[in-house]
Amino acid sequence: MKLYNTMTNRKEEFVPVHEGKVGMYVCGPTVYNYIHIGNARPMVVFDTVRRYFEYKGYDVNYVSNFTDVDDKIIKKANEEGVSSQEISERFIKECKKDMEGLNVKEATHHPKATEEIDGMIAMIRTLIEKGHAYEKDGTVYFKTRSFKDYGHLSNKNLDDMQAGIRIAVSDEKEDPMDFVLWKPKKEGEPSWPSPWGDGRPGWHIECSVMSKKYIGRTIDIHAGGEDLVFPHHENEIAQSEAANGEKFANYWMHNAFLNIDNKKMSKSAGNFFTVREISEKYPLQVIRFFMLSAHYRSPLNFSDTLVEASKNGLERILTCVDSLKSLEGTAKEGPMTEEEEKNADRIKELVAKYEEAMEDDFNTADAIAAVFEIVKLANVTAKDSGKAYISYARETLVKLCDILGIITEKEEELLDSDIEALIEERQQARKAKNFARADEIRSQLLEQGIILEDTRAGVKWKRA
Ligand code: AMP
Ligand code: ZN
Repeated sequence: MKLYNTMTNRKEEFVPVHEGKVGMYVCGPTVYNYIHIGNARPMVVFDTVRRYFEYKGYDVNYVSNFTDVDDKIIKKANEEGVSSQEISERFIKECKKDMEGLNVKEATHHPKATEEIDGMIAMIRTLIEKGHAYEKDGTVYFKTRSFKDYGHLSNKNLDDMQAGIRIAVSDEKEDPMDFVLWKPKKEGEPSWPSPWGDGRPGWHIECSVMSKKYIGRTIDIHAGGEDLVFPHHENEIAQSEAANGEKFANYWMHNAFLNIDNKKMSKSAGNFFTVREISEKYPLQVIRFFMLSAHYRSPLNFSDTLVEASKNGLERILTCVDSLKSLEGTAKEGPMTEEEEKNADRIKELVAKYEEAMEDDFNTADAIAAVFEIVKLANVTAKDSGKAYISYARETLVKLCDILGIITEKEEELLDSDIEALIEERQQARKAKNFARADEIRSQLLEQGIILEDTRAGVKWKRA
């Protein structure tokens, strides 16, 4: 499996640290607002990378953080007159709802910066002890020039960078390129005690600490949007490698931007749509499919025309799976005919084409093209085929779509008669004082969207 490594600027064969396992860290959002669809791009893209590794049999430890202490969160909290924690918790919840809508799998670990402060203090301490950091009046800085590889990831050179910046009259930093690891408390801001006084961590140290705790000193894949290459990821490397004395990440993957009118969608520029807004216009599955229609390292322009095209494309796939399913119900049983075997072989070739595309730096655009070819073939061959062939075609499509996080089959709805039978069973269980069973039935129904209401006139139910 080949993936493009930003560190070496070329595609490389993937070799895991531990055989059969992938440790993946994806920088998560700063939670002060609803996420926009630009933020959703890394979520969807790297969730698909994860799904593909899982399909290949790897055990993936997928870690993605929430940055829940930050200037923007504090600003929003002050505007609303509530605590920063209230803001971050609210938007973590909303972000999780959006991720669910986009069918992004729950991370193996979803750490929050504010719950990992001890680890950050410990790492900053190590950096000071090793001569890579220093404290001035409650602020701790990383001594950038103490780390000889600084700038490798972003192909930058410290002297060039320094020549390019106007030197602020900062009397504290020893060098203008030094960056903050710990900042002192300001009035009205959340803070934690530390050896350097009350304060809070800088942004970069979070990811160094959380990736080490949940994955290890050397992680397989570190990922995020391309705006994170510098300074965020460059600084993470400097901190982690200076503290741990080991290579930080073997592969660096960065997604290109989601643009509007060829400009990066961003909150600060104001040219954004939240996932929530978009979900009123399109099913989020369409947005997911749209995002995967381009290679993750190509910029993707967001426009109604392009999303409409994705919507139609997805519809074609879903309709095909539906019709295969209904044909399956009446098709004749028995082994495949020679003709069907030939068509099944053609599908197998297309699966290989799909895998080849995914294994060439996750070329989802080409993988989707292979799915469309299977749809085309199935549409002309299924009608006159037997059950074995139809099932094979349908199951293949379902599997390939599942890797892309596209749900092709709706869950079967419970029939009214099934619901009523379960309600009756629950009544009997209650009469027999078997409350455990009664509760079990209630939650089983709730899981399928059926809400029970015990009224004086008996049990009423409705679909959520
Ligand atoms: P932030 O909350 O700004 O730190 O962003 C969270 C993630 O979204 C990071 O990986 C960013 O690189 C990514 N991101 C932000 N804006 C865009 C965009 N317009 N297109 C693609 N990725 C983005
Ligand atoms: Zn990060």
